[in-house]
Amino acid sequence: MKINAVCCDAHRRGFLGGSTALGLLAVGLGAMPSGATAASLSEAQRNAMTPDQVIQKMLEGNARFLSGARKERDFLAEMRSSSAGQFPAAIVLSCVDSRAPVEVICDLGIGDTFNARVAGNAVNDDILGSMEFACAAAGAKAVVLMGHTACGAIKGAIDNVVLGNLTLLLARFKSAIDATVYTGDRTSKNAAFVDAVARTHVQHSVKLVRERSPVLAGLEAKGSIKIIASMYDLASGKVTLV
Ligand SMILES: [Zn+2]
Repeated sequence: MKINAVCCDAHRRGFLGGSTALGLLAVGLGAMPSGATAASLSEAQRNAMTPDQVIQKMLEGNARFLSGARKERDFLAEMRSSSAGQFPAAIVLSCVDSRAPVEVICDLGIGDTFNARVAGNAVNDDILGSMEFACAAAGAKAVVLMGHTACGAIKGAIDNVVLGNLTLLLARFKSAIDATVYTGDRTSKNAAFVDAVARTHVQHSVKLVRERSPVLAGLEAKGSIKIIASMYDLASGKVTLV
């Protein structure tokens, strides 16, 4: 059992992007393309990282995406190595927007992060429970709230859109609209205002998670996790902590 665990760890290096002796051997034997990532994140690799390091790795992944030098991955190897157990380093809450897939824009692989998506990346009870599962039960080190520019959900909330179940969802953004200090055109036609509201909303979401989840707030107080806000710029491709 112990030997197997060591063996698996030696083959895994996905999220970190570093190589291991066995990984290098496999490359040397031509078992995978040069520079290819062999397998998913191991428990030992995930546990060895601090919350700050996990966040840094995600930002480095975004830098690779931006430079056009995404990691060469063997998704089948990641699938196989993670099939018996997963050790994701973070949980990300982002918008359903088709242009903001966090696994792509942060150059992540199978097993690297838990991913929750809902219009406007709005926190709700089920998502809080998912975050608690990710961190308290599964050992993730970071809760990353990720808003994005030109968010349609934010625009809809500014415009007071009424449409079926969406009405209730959009109501979650009202406090962020009201709290956003902005002089000038406070309509959905003004991209700067829309983005300012999105920033306020994601910052509010961090506070909301801490207030409504004593489990997560407690883990953060102990230094086991970090809860952070970020924004993804649809036009530049850059993820920024806010
Ligand atoms: Zn959106």
